[in-house]
Amino acid sequence: MGLVNCRDCGGTISTNANMCPHCGTINTIQNEMLYEDHLEYEHSLAEFEHQLEMEEFEAWERADAEASKFTAIMVIVYVVFAFLFLLFIGWVMNDV
Ligand SMILES: [Zn+2]
Repeated sequence: MGLVNCRDCGGTISTNANMCPHCGTINTIQNEMLYEDHLEYEHSLAEFEHQLEMEEFEAWERADAEASKFTAIMVIVYVVFAFLFLLFIGWVMNDV
């Protein structure tokens, strides 16, 4: 906590004070700090949102990869079953 001079009346104001206790002028240094805090907050919020989006995207990509893997396995299973079915048909036909 520091002291600054009011830009209007020259009186000392705490950097934590929102306004000058002598003339009531808004403490711009304090407000700048608040504004910077706000900007920093907005920035970290945006970063956090971006991170969330990335995680969501990655999760979606993982799910998509899982789905692709599942589809590939299903295709292989179908092909194997079709092959076995044809083999069985051929076997039955030859037997008859
Ligand atoms: Zn003042």
